[in-house]
Amino acid sequence: MGVHLANRWKSRIHLTAGTNDTCLIFTVEDPSGDMNLLPTFYPEDPFKLRAVPPRDVLQATTKAFLQQAIERCDVNHEECKLNRNACFLPTRLIDVREENVVRLVAGSTIISSGGDSSSSAWKYAALSYCWGPKSHAEYQLKTTVDNLDAHFTEIPMDTMPPLLQDAIYTTRELGVPFLWIDSLCIIQGDKQDWDREAGTMHKVYGSAYITICPTQSKSCKSGFLRRDPPSISLPYRSSSGKPVGTYNIRYHRSWIWKMYFYVSGHPFSQDLISGSWIRRGWTFQEAALSSRMVLFGAAAAHFQCQRSRVTEGESFETPVEISELALFPLLPNTLAEDNLDSAWKHIVSSYSQRKFTQSEDAIVALAGLARRFHSFQGTDEYCSGMWLSHLHEQLLWRSAEYEGSPWASWTQLLDPQMPEKVRVFAPSWSWIHQKKVEYQYLKDSLFPRRPDDSSSNSQEEHSGMSTAAFPGLTGETLGLVWRLPDNDNTAAGHFIQWRGQELEITGLTARFPLANADRPLHIDNSAEVNTNLFWKWTISNQYFCHTNWDFLNFGYWDRADKGDFQRLRMLLLSSGSGERPDAPTPGSATADNNNSEAMGVGACTLILPTHPPAEISSGGEESQKAEQNDRAAFGLFLFPAGGESEDGKFYRVGTWYSLSEGKGGLANFKRYATAETLVLI
Ligand SMILES: [Zn+2]
Repeated sequence: MGVHLANRWKSRIHLTAGTNDTCLIFTVEDPSGDMNLLPTFYPEDPFKLRAVPPRDVLQATTKAFLQQAIERCDVNHEECKLNRNACFLPTRLIDVREENVVRLVAGSTIISSGGDSSSSAWKYAALSYCWGPKSHAEYQLKTTVDNLDAHFTEIPMDTMPPLLQDAIYTTRELGVPFLWIDSLCIIQGDKQDWDREAGTMHKVYGSAYITICPTQSKSCKSGFLRRDPPSISLPYRSSSGKPVGTYNIRYHRSWIWKMYFYVSGHPFSQDLISGSWIRRGWTFQEAALSSRMVLFGAAAAHFQCQRSRVTEGESFETPVEISELALFPLLPNTLAEDNLDSAWKHIVSSYSQRKFTQSEDAIVALAGLARRFHSFQGTDEYCSGMWLSHLHEQLLWRSAEYEGSPWASWTQLLDPQMPEKVRVFAPSWSWIHQKKVEYQYLKDSLFPRRPDDSSSNSQEEHSGMSTAAFPGLTGETLGLVWRLPDNDNTAAGHFIQWRGQELEITGLTARFPLANADRPLHIDNSAEVNTNLFWKWTISNQYFCHTNWDFLNFGYWDRADKGDFQRLRMLLLSSGSGERPDAPTPGSATADNNNSEAMGVGACTLILPTHPPAEISSGGEESQKAEQNDRAAFGLFLFPAGGESEDGKFYRVGTWYSLSEGKGGLANFKRYATAETLVLI
């Protein structure tokens, strides 16, 4: 049987035999030949019989499947209990124990009745869902100051949107007495309550007995307990030509996530990728913080905990790994210290792609996750979405998408009002202003894996992440002070309030050398210039650095007033070893670049060095000098905030790096640099 779909990617179809409720999944080859863009780890099961998803999402067998999965986790998984705080209950919960009446109950009331979270009397479920577009969100039933007291008596079920009703029913069916839903358990419109409750998100989701995730519901108006997947029926004939039943054919979408993560045809991936839940900003940390989740999808129900996940109708468990962060954030309970920096960068990359109705919500919706990290990191400080101990690397973010960038253009950059406009909710050096933030260029292009790393596998590479030890950059600043605004006097303060934070950095700075008439810089007219990624600059035909601006710079050079560049500062943040033992040969570097462009990775792979690393000689000043000569330098581009009369305050407008090849690098930068103290706002 041949089936052709006019679809860019490989497609899958479910064929369902009507009588025995099974369906055959197979892969349709894409005749356009675009498949070669796809990573090689392709679905494990091109032919497989699957049961037709039941219309009733919470039928008896599903309930039994979930209860068994939860019990197995309870009995066997110690790691799934670590974040469930035995002494914690949310401020308010919805009591669902009575069949016909639901009402709010104070966590303190439950606590005073005795017991602890190990007893069934303290169990609560948490809901992670999309409120939906504004018009739907208005339909949402909320607890406000006005109806708070009434909700402690009764929350009228008939005023609840379908999704909330389904969540209450599910909680009850799973034998859980209480449920936490943000719209009802936080007083909406009360900033004080909201700030306080937002500060406990990591505990609310971390301590929940289970988190309920309706992956297909676009808004509170769409319930999730009835399935009606679109399909068409085709007659099925036996080999003798006699009609014996029908096939249901259902299109199953495949997708490229983040351009380089291929989502398999497994129902778990399909259910995530085809729904809205995985794309929304708020659900990111709700999933990451949850000890365990039940996910209701179009194809099946799934259970996921810290150790594994299992899909309804399947007998095997799939181990959960941190490498899945790009698609689905799930944090292990503890992270080894040397993984914290790279894990946080993955979180930033993934999170900055999520959608928010209000962009400033992105700060609060990450605060719970930041607090969880803070508990891993001990005394480290959370500075506008980055960690103080790793600012020399984490400040080097770049954006892969300029739409919505606060600067947008060079002209806007020079607008004297711009620093204040940008700093409405976060300092200019925070990545929160940008979409699709990444650090990929630091790792993949400049510092590939070390040769002794044996943990490499194809899945990691294709998901764009690595659990390998990252060589890391060395901080080169001479002093760094992180300052909070005077009005930051609450404990929750800097986790949910980034406005007004400043960095006072003492370090080596250089005027952008364009200003030096005797050392003219020009844009290298080579292939890598015609992108918006990295520009290569040379002085007297000798390489100086690459730059990456925070604004859309394509074609601006001809229109720009070159004098403006004289006011730019280059601030040195860090240096890195040029050790790249697996550097490609010149031929393969070009090939890699072609691939990388297709996968959305920066064009900087073009300038990968092509000679083996310098021999490190034994001790002494000479070897130190040689070592410094071979170090790459990394830093920020800054622009004075005070206009012509500089007052020491600067805002971020881009990043730069300089490799030691062609006499660039740390040693060369130092020839232009002097020590200076700048305040980044
Ligand atoms: Zn578990």
